Amino acid sequence: MANRELVVLGTASQAPTRFRNHNGYFLRWDAEGLLFDPGEGTQRQMLFAGVTASQVTRVCLTHFHGDHCLGLPGVLQRMALDRVAHPVTAYYPGVNAEVFGRLRHASLFHDTLTLLEHPVDGDGVVADGVAADGGSGFRLEARALSHLVPAIGYRLVEPDGRHMLPDELAARGVDGPDIGLLQRSGRLEVGGRVVTLEEVSVPRRGQRFAFVMDTRLCDAAFELADGADMLVCESTFADADGALARDYGHLTAGQAGQIAAAAGARLLVLTHFSQRYETGPPQRLRDEAAAAFSGEIVMAADLDRIPVPRRASGVR
Ligand SMILES: [Zn+2]
Repeated sequence: MANRELVVLGTASQAPTRFRNHNGYFLRWDAEGLLFDPGEGTQRQMLFAGVTASQVTRVCLTHFHGDHCLGLPGVLQRMALDRVAHPVTAYYPGVNAEVFGRLRHASLFHDTLTLLEHPVDGDGVVADGVAADGGSGFRLEARALSHLVPAIGYRLVEPDGRHMLPDELAARGVDGPDIGLLQRSGRLEVGGRVVTLEEVSVPRRGQRFAFVMDTRLCDAAFELADGADMLVCESTFADADGALARDYGHLTAGQAGQIAAAAGARLLVLTHFSQRYETGPPQRLRDEAAAAFSGEIVMAADLDRIPVPRRASGVR
């Protein structure tokens, strides 16, 4: 099982279909579990996907249209039922804190959950530094998107690091705890000779994950997607329905491809499909995105598990 993967819980916009649940995405990122936009039915989809309530460490809401949040009350209640002991942090557009409060207290239950609320007001870093397992290198950022109601997108950025080369370490007699010492201090004296970190390692680019939901084409979508190893992007409409996309504050599949291409993304995951394409050619939206983006494209289906691509070598 990959340490970092996207578990797709639902892929329908607005109304669920016979084959697609409302939105919902669980990102497993080492010891962190980020639940994005739990639409209606998310609790049951988690069951089908083998995601437990206790695996969720953070909940990230992009906005408060029902297909992105109506599953929240059920998931929170389930966390309490399962006696989730760790605190869970929820991020959401701060201007709609009142709506969040209604979802948080939508039903009566024995509420034992420690839910830390983090309303997001403005662009920037919303969580930095310490991951759930105590490790560093976890940075979550948000940016305002352009939708009919206040909406934000997210991205997860792992700092660039270095990949140690076992042969080079062995050739210089560096082993055991000395490796960690060298990583921390950048240089080490071994047998009367100084070994530098650069001699025994190569740059390792940190992984990036971007989550761009309901929005028109806007600068923030490109910024979020910048250099993403995995870009999850709404593609509600086909290109022929571009006027509808504009009016309702959405992207077409071709625009999702444009974002991925301009941002240098590696893997584009298309989702949040309008029900109007349910009976059409299944690859239509994928083909439209592919006209703009030559990288790998996945049309998300409910219960898909999509590994975050392995780290690219070198720092761009
Ligand atoms: Zn929306």
